[in-house]
Formats: sequence, C-alpha cells, structure tokens
Amino acid sequence: MRRVLVTGGAGFLGSHLCDRLIARGDEVVCLDNFFTGAKTNVGHLVGHPRFELIRHDIIEPILVEVDWVFNLACPASPIHYQYNPIKTIKTSILGTMNMLGLAKRVKARFFQASTSEVYGDPVVHPQPESYWGNVNPIGIRSCYDEGKRCAETLCMDYHRSNGVDTRIVRIFNTYGPRMALRDGRVVSNFVMQALSGKPLTVYGEGNQTRSFCYCDDLVEGFLRLMEYEGPDCHEPHNIGNPGEFTMLELATLVKELTGTSLPIVHEPLPADDPKQRQPDIARTRKNLGWEPKTALREGLQKTIADFRPRVEAER
Ligand code: NAD
Ligand code: UDP
Repeated sequence: MRRVLVTGGAGFLGSHLCDRLIARGDEVVCLDNFFTGAKTNVGHLVGHPRFELIRHDIIEPILVEVDWVFNLACPASPIHYQYNPIKTIKTSILGTMNMLGLAKRVKARFFQASTSEVYGDPVVHPQPESYWGNVNPIGIRSCYDEGKRCAETLCMDYHRSNGVDTRIVRIFNTYGPRMALRDGRVVSNFVMQALSGKPLTVYGEGNQTRSFCYCDDLVEGFLRLMEYEGPDCHEPHNIGNPGEFTMLELATLVKELTGTSLPIVHEPLPADDPKQRQPDIARTRKNLGWEPKTALREGLQKTIADFRPRVEAER
C-alpha cells in the first residue's frame, strides 16, 4: 500500500484525486486550509480507514511519512487568487518549497499542479510545453501566473540539485461536479446563473477561447504522469482537452443543456485576460498514452446534474 499526501485535497480537483487514490487501494493524507475547499467535498471519505484529513496551511512546514506528494494547494479561480495576492504567491512559492523539502526529506515522488497560465496571453497557438509564454510580471494575474512559474523552477532545481523525483503537470481549464457554486470560474458561473434564472455574464465580446477538460479525464492523466518513468518524466506535461470554444459558444451550450432562454449580458473584460488557449498534447499523448475521453457536452451534462440540487437547496 502506498501512502499519498494530497495538498489542496478538499478542493475541486483534489477531492476527485483523493477518490481515485482511495478506490485503487492507496492510503491518503488529505491536507487543506479550507480557503476555497470544503470538508463536504471529502465528507464521504471521512471515517474511511485509509483516509486522513488534516487542516494545515502549506505555507508552514509539516512532516508526514509518505511515498508520493501531490501538491495541488492553491486557489485557482481569479476572484479567489486575487482576493489576497500576497498569500497566493506565498502559497505557490513558500508552500511548494515546504512540500519539496518534505519530499526531499522522506524521499517521496513529488507532483506539482502547474497551469496553462504559465503561458500567459500566448502568442504561440496551440501551446506546446517548449513555449516559454507571454506573462505580465506586474499585473493582477501575476500573483498566480508568476507564482506557478516559480513553483516549476523550484521543482526543476530541487530535482537537479537535490535529486527529488519531480513531475510537473500544466493543467488547462478543467471543470466538473463539486466545483464550488461561487467558484467564479466561467463554467461554474454559467451553470449557476442558468440554474438560478440569472443572465449569463460573458466578459468582453466573448470571442476569447478556452479548452475545457472534464475532471475525471484530468485525474487519469495525473496518475499516468506520476507512474511515468521515461527519460523526460521531469519535464512539464500539458494535460487538457484540445477542443477549443469561445465563451459565447460555451454560454450558448449551457443555455441549451439547461433548457433556458435567459439573456447573455456582457460585462467588462478583466485585465490581462488571455485571448486564446489550447493545449498541444503531443508529448502527453506519446509518453502517457493519454487522451481526453469526455466531450464538453457530456461533461457539462454531468456538471449540471451535480449543480442542480445544490442550487435548489439554496432557494
Ligand atoms: P480549488 O480552489 O477548488 O482547490 C484548491 C485547494 O487548495 C482548496 O481546497 C484550498 O482550500 C486549498 N488551499 C489553497 N491555499 C492553501 C494553502 N496555503 N494551504 C493549504 N491548502 C490550500 O481549485 P482546483 O480547481 O481544485 O485547483 C487545484 C490545483 O490545480 C491548484 O493548484 C490550481 O492552481 C491547479 N489548476 C487548476 C485548474 C482548473 O481548471 N481547475 C487549471 C490549472 C491549474
Ligand atoms: N468569463 C466570462 N464570464 C464569467 C467568468 C469568466 O466570460 O462569468 C471568461 C473570462 O473572462 C475568461 C474565460 O471566461 O476569458 C475563462 O475564465 P476563468 O476564470 O474560468 O479561467 P481563466 O481565465 O483563468 O482561464
């Protein structure tokens, strides 16, 4: 049996990862400060003999004997990571340093949840891992983007200088059941708005694009990358669904799937909002044999089914 630490384990993606690890027989230590995560996300695992939940902030060091560390702790939605930007960058830099230090000390394999945001507002499209990005170092998104870029640097230097066995995944926009109702990201906003009878808020003209991956597909990719031991296993790997949509297309699809005729309203485009984003997954496909399986329409149907009772419970 493997002992696995999941930081940010009570968040959206972390909780799905904990589910998968428990299902395959691992022992899971889930660590979270509950900033954007919730105990309810892992409530069904509490009491399981192979599951442990710890309230802890990764800005502070911690010592736990584990074989693997998945470092997911960090707010991911712009409204949350901009709420306290200094805390966000501390989480990515001091927090990742603490978790890498732990991995070094207990000789654990280390996994960093990085992001497509390291490419900033990309001028290369789609984005391969070899692209260094176009990031504003002083803007309102920088606390997240630059924090995650520095976290990647830390991973590579702990690997090169201290032999830590690191993996880096660059996650592209991922959605699914258990996203917080007020998470603030586009899929949860549109679904929440459509189910509660409010206009769908498209920022700017709505021609900016994103590529949306369903959470179960992503977690499958996480596990394959963690098991992968090829010569380039320490290099970043993009994981995302190459299907690319404008925000207007997404809003129209959510309206269709929720059966509403609510209006779409336009709100100001936030500063530094990337205009386009699509993963080049050639490396991931070749090394991990990974492909996304869930089409946006199917994934949205599952997400809507999960949101509907939660939205109704609030009425
Ligand atoms: P989330 O906000 O639901 O989860 C983040 C979790 O980390 C929450 O449970 C939060 O309480 C916890 N956390 C935050 N700061 C912490 C700290 N200092 N100490 C301990 N716990 C802390 O977001 P998510 O979508 O599940 O994202 C998980 C990870 O994946 C993040 O690192 C995020 O940057 C990355 N990511 C996600 C996406 C996506 O589309 N979902 C895209 C790119 C990268
Ligand atoms: N967006 C939108 N309406 C919303 C929330 C977001 O049009 O209610 C847009 C946002 O401007 C961005 C895209 O949707 O262009 C994705 O935003 P999100 O915050 O989900 O992720 P990120 O920008 O970090 O990729």
